[in-house]
Amino acid sequence: MKIMPNRLDRGFEKYKEEFEKKALEVLNSGYYILGKEVSSFEEEFASYTGAKHCVGLASGLDALWLAFRVLGVGAGDEVIVPANTYIASVMGITINDATPVFVEPDAFYNIDVDKIREKITPKTKAILVVHLYGQACNMRKVQELCKEHDLFLVEDCAQSHGAYYDGQMTGTFGDVGCFSFYPSKNLGAFGDAGAIVTNDDKIADDMRMYRNYGSRKRYYNEVVGANSRLDEMQAGLLRVRLQHMSELTAEREQIAARYLKEITNPSMILPTIAEGATHVWHQFVIRHDRREELIAYLADKGIGTIVHYPIPPHLSEAYAYLGHEAGDFPITEQYADSVLSLPMYNGMTEEEQTVVIEALNSFM
Ligand SMILES: *Cc1c(COP(=O)(O)O)cnc(C)c1O
Repeated sequence: MKIMPNRLDRGFEKYKEEFEKKALEVLNSGYYILGKEVSSFEEEFASYTGAKHCVGLASGLDALWLAFRVLGVGAGDEVIVPANTYIASVMGITINDATPVFVEPDAFYNIDVDKIREKITPKTKAILVVHLYGQACNMRKVQELCKEHDLFLVEDCAQSHGAYYDGQMTGTFGDVGCFSFYPSKNLGAFGDAGAIVTNDDKIADDMRMYRNYGSRKRYYNEVVGANSRLDEMQAGLLRVRLQHMSELTAEREQIAARYLKEITNPSMILPTIAEGATHVWHQFVIRHDRREELIAYLADKGIGTIVHYPIPPHLSEAYAYLGHEAGDFPITEQYADSVLSLPMYNGMTEEEQTVVIEALNSFM
């Protein structure tokens, strides 16, 4: 049996008829950009998260960089960001010419909230939290710090659709929650898509202006904006999937529960969940000190895995100009050298789960 790290086709098959019906409906409607599918999705996603507004955008990266643009964070400003994240989080900051200030992760792979305070300077304007792999970060502590130091709070929720901290959904704790609906995300589109959520009327209004060439009124342009509109097809298909989110999340939780219970090989470091947080298992990430050997062993048994992520942003070529070196963020670097994401996707069969579990348990 061949098992891939992810199977997007299975996610399509689950609700194939509904997706096909919606796709034809959109094609026949004659409206393809900023029509009723987008406005309905925005209402439904805002209500799902518990936020007042949602603004649909073209990608998760756009959500991030436009969030900082709308907040007025730019050159000369510092933004605190986890060192252990996908590089898009950092690009959202640097596209605006602001400077990322990295903080090491905790045992749950999220920003270590006890190490943020020491990084705050007079130039700090915002904290960007990332709910990595689908586990909510400790938001109460971050909210306190933002209040105390008058900082903007932005959340990167690209991996955490539906995850809660203290009963509140990720994305709604600060000024802006940024979402990606890239096909592999928990709420995935069939192409690129993203959104922000916010409780602030002005941020929502400004975001609508920025996403459409900086224009509130057709052909009157206030700022140099972006073309970052969620399209009708993606919005329509996202509405279909959103209706099934609780069952999709529950299915991921079931797979994770089996992995946690049945992977008994003591050489694997399994994920744990922090008090107050829920985990929606965008990725099920283990650590192993002989990771490359483990990858080869699993590949030999037909099991595909992925490393999220092999090179931390501070050591990426793209950020050589920041002047960081290997050893600057040892916990992040150790994670990058040892993490491994197991196959995890909606529509994964029990038999496939068993094959993965048995292979991990037989690794010597
Ligand atoms: C996927 C992802 C993004 C970027 O989303 P795109 O839609 O691919 O632009 C940003 N941050 C994190 C943590 C992600 O996983």
